[in-house]
Amino acid sequence: MGMRRLGKKMAIEDEVQAFRDALVGWFEREAVDYPWRRTSDPYAVLVSEVMLQQTRVAVVFGKGYYERFLQSFPDVHTLANADEAHFLRAWEGLGYYRRARQLQATARAVVELWNGEFPREEKDLRSLPGIGPYTAAALRSFAFDAASPLVDGNVQRVFARLYNDDRPVDQTEGIRVAWQRAGMLLDEKRPRSYNAGLMELGQKICRVGRPDCLLCPVSRWCTAVEPGMLPVKAKKTQITELEERAILAIDHHQRCLMAPESGGRKQGFWRLPFREEMDGGNQNDENLLWQGNYSITRYKVLLSIYDGAGQQAKDGECWIPLEELENFPISAPYRKALRQLL
Ligand code: SF4
Repeated sequence: MGMRRLGKKMAIEDEVQAFRDALVGWFEREAVDYPWRRTSDPYAVLVSEVMLQQTRVAVVFGKGYYERFLQSFPDVHTLANADEAHFLRAWEGLGYYRRARQLQATARAVVELWNGEFPREEKDLRSLPGIGPYTAAALRSFAFDAASPLVDGNVQRVFARLYNDDRPVDQTEGIRVAWQRAGMLLDEKRPRSYNAGLMELGQKICRVGRPDCLLCPVSRWCTAVEPGMLPVKAKKTQITELEERAILAIDHHQRCLMAPESGGRKQGFWRLPFREEMDGGNQNDENLLWQGNYSITRYKVLLSIYDGAGQQAKDGECWIPLEELENFPISAPYRKALRQLL
């Protein structure tokens, strides 16, 4: 009773249907009641999808980012017209600011080209900035309950194990096969529950590392021999270690010296000013006020903050009143450090 039987024709359609029923039945019993599952508003679905692309559910949901963001920007028009500093402040803490800017570009295109109504067809969705194959499929499935195969990292992992397939999931062939399987197995009558179920199976049961096969609703069709070894990836992520040496300078007007972030991704955000001449990593340095690590993409950063009493502003740096810092867009690691320091 292996999953490979799902690939053979005929009698197999019953088997495929049994697989879908098992998955959807499990999902309907066990689904976590996330707020984005209670809506079919394509704008709200898009916000959740963009937030969840690289940030864990526990952060997006547990820390209330999704709901707060929708309170500030309840529809596509509000987001399209939002002022950048206000918008980035609402996104602060989620990281990946390019995604946030892309979300606003999508909202503007929906307003300008579609009169504020999201299109339903895949080709129209894909023509919007920032909407790739996954996001188009997610919008079609979760907002419109339209039959659209969907593949994300969770789905790739589930398929690689079900089919005991060691083709690298980050290479063209592995990606093509995953989409083909997604199309073949899709439950066209219940695409929303089926696709959400497949993703949730990957998140909760068929997890990265060691899957919980005893609890798996589709184990009957699974051919994985060593599921923990799958999926295979061709590229290994290299982590690079960096240091940032910054200062906390507060003047006698109770203003804090801040510097603009540079580079596209963090543009619009602020941080404490760098002073490379400060010694890094020396825990005994009496000027060292705070030290902590943070990770961003493939970098692990050691952030050290020194006492900057008497320091002057350099190019682009500004003195910001302490009481305004809370509403000022500040990069998440610096926000965390400032909260502890002040
Ligand atoms: S949880 Fe186990 S049985 Fe279920 S699909 Fe993943 S590897 Fe297969």
